[in-house]
Amino acid sequence: MFISNISNLKYYKTPTGANLIDIVPYTAGKNDPIEPGDIAHKLVIYLHKGLSQTGEDIICMEKTFKGTRGKCPACQEYRRRVEACMSDEETKPFKVGAWPRVLYNVYDRLKPGDGLQVWNASSFLFQQYLDVIARRSSLSQGKQPENFIGFMDPSLDGRSIGFDKQGKEELTKYIGVHFEERETEVPESILESAHVLDEIVAWPTFEQSYEEIWGVPYNGEVSEASKTASRASKFESKVKEEDIPAAVDEDVESEEEREQRMLEEKLAALKEKKEEVKTSEKKLDSKKEDKKGGTNPCSHGYVFGADIDEKPECDECKAWKDCAKEADRLEREKRK
Ligand SMILES: [Zn+2]
Repeated sequence: MFISNISNLKYYKTPTGANLIDIVPYTAGKNDPIEPGDIAHKLVIYLHKGLSQTGEDIICMEKTFKGTRGKCPACQEYRRRVEACMSDEETKPFKVGAWPRVLYNVYDRLKPGDGLQVWNASSFLFQQYLDVIARRSSLSQGKQPENFIGFMDPSLDGRSIGFDKQGKEELTKYIGVHFEERETEVPESILESAHVLDEIVAWPTFEQSYEEIWGVPYNGEVSEASKTASRASKFESKVKEEDIPAAVDEDVESEEEREQRMLEEKLAALKEKKEEVKTSEKKLDSKKEDKKGGTNPCSHGYVFGADIDEKPECDECKAWKDCAKEADRLEREKRK
């Protein structure tokens, strides 16, 4: 996802316990989804999780750039499968993740000697909480500019952001995200070393993403190629692939809306399934049983409680809360 040979690129690894950081603004470059040359403070990147042949994430250029950079081969395949009424199991792996990654330039107030660092954060764990505290008043929901706290301002008018990191890997939580008044400004040297975040990302072309996903070069005909490609050969191609327009077109919004509606229907069905599982007396008490048993509370067939936030489906799973509870229970049991 990142261009590898960038000098002075240090990554911020959230330490367990107290964190206190400043988010440092930068000037957007040519490849920023916001207007190039504008002051930016974050770069939001949507992903198709684990979709490459080697299990790597694929950047969704279509959603990240709101359609202005053309289509995404994974989204195209997702739409094709939905159109062809394929099962959840077959469509979901191609759906773009609901929670994007967010890149920030950060200055660690607890370890200022570490200088400017880049934080590749999960919007699920962090950005959504930051969005809430940045609203001065819940009534206005931050819609009026004067009701928004400009935390990214490098002067004393900005804010440091504190939180506590607890747990690790899939159990990571950032507790108590809050603002703190600054006693000193963000140093000039830190401001100057902020990375133009869109320049450190290896943005893929349509052809590159296509080859990453299918393992064969793009030959201009999506449906034919995906029929012969290793992964797609399992599935019948019923719908003729749409053409690939170079730029945004008007149907992007309605497609999104349709996807949303279909997703809601599917989630409603999942909820029903979950309720059935709840009422059934069969309690699953081991990971292995989860995998084998037909009553796996994880409707995607993963290990309930153990695979939480590891799979692309977790982002929008209605059983997430129950899965998190189970994960906590498993963790407690491990400690005994
Ligand atoms: Zn996509």
